[in-house]
Amino acid sequence: MATKRDYYEVLGVDKNASQDEIKKAYRKLAKESHPDLHPDDKTADARFKEINEANAVLSDSDKRAKYDQFGMDGPNMGGFDASGFGGFGGMGGFESIFDQLFGGMGAGGQRRSNVQRGNDLRYNLRVSFEEAAFGAKKSFDFMREENCDTCHGSGAKPGTQPETCATCKGTGQVRASSGFMVTVRPCNVCGGTGKNIKERCGTCGGDGRVRRKRTANVNVPSGIDDGQVIIMNGQGEPGIGGGPSGDLQIVISVRPHKLFKRDGTNIYLDMPISLTQASLGADIDVPTLEGSVKYAIPEGTQTGTRFRLKGKGIQQLNGSQRGDLVLNVQVEIPRKLSDKQKELLRQFESSLSGKEYSDSKSFLDKVKNLFS
Ligand SMILES: [Zn+2]
Ligand SMILES: [Zn+2]
Repeated sequence: MATKRDYYEVLGVDKNASQDEIKKAYRKLAKESHPDLHPDDKTADARFKEINEANAVLSDSDKRAKYDQFGMDGPNMGGFDASGFGGFGGMGGFESIFDQLFGGMGAGGQRRSNVQRGNDLRYNLRVSFEEAAFGAKKSFDFMREENCDTCHGSGAKPGTQPETCATCKGTGQVRASSGFMVTVRPCNVCGGTGKNIKERCGTCGGDGRVRRKRTANVNVPSGIDDGQVIIMNGQGEPGIGGGPSGDLQIVISVRPHKLFKRDGTNIYLDMPISLTQASLGADIDVPTLEGSVKYAIPEGTQTGTRFRLKGKGIQQLNGSQRGDLVLNVQVEIPRKLSDKQKELLRQFESSLSGKEYSDSKSFLDKVKNLFS
């Protein structure tokens, strides 16, 4: 089998192309390179198949992700072999690719509706650590393709109507037989829409669609975490032919906090305490998401000791439980002492009996045993 060209290259789109760009590139190429238009070109069939194959993979987000990750040799990629469209269940699958894009006649000869669900839209929404913890009302602007108001989505100049395509009789598809094979292809005259526009709408230029700025108001629920997605049903692009609208998917990105780290519903805080506080015990002011609280650390607290402040963490998403704040204390050894302070420490040291440093004592005992 000959080496295949990169699917993105075949469709002439960028690796980061949106589904919309892929769809547009495919439609244009499918129209231009339809084999019926190039009866003398022996490579036309192969080229047309190549375009359809590239589209079948890139227009399906799961298949596209696999292709991006593994390339041609990836798992299940063999199924996209142009010779049989094996991955799509033979000819039936081949047709279904067009049905997705163009609607029209099914394998059984029934008229299928030209109805398509609108595209989903994705938006990355940045929220603060606190907004994620306690919830927030946010609004943002986004661009959405919508049906043109002037022509109500038909693409035809007001007062005129799109005409049913005479070539495909409105089905959007043309059947052709070569040998034993009956192939169904999108109609190149109407681009698979089944309709031809004589006079184009001035507002949308015949597309039937325009891009508009919209504002989304979203309730960010308390407890949401980085990477989670809020779905606003039906707020994506409108469907085609009366199909349902797509969804607006809002991907949450939580800004890091200066003090706290989060893991699920628990938050973690590293906090320095003084040598004296650690030795004598102290009521310390611990910052929380809702202001400072007093916390009594016991005398003889070691560095790295963790204290758990129950219920001072983050609320469970869609639940009533609240996580904890885990306080991790770091004992800070004083620096830049004066001569007087150093002298006080020496006096302090000479007052020790040895049992005050139990870890050091047991360590020294172990060392002693090692050499005796
Ligand atoms: Zn219009
Ligand atoms: Zn047609």
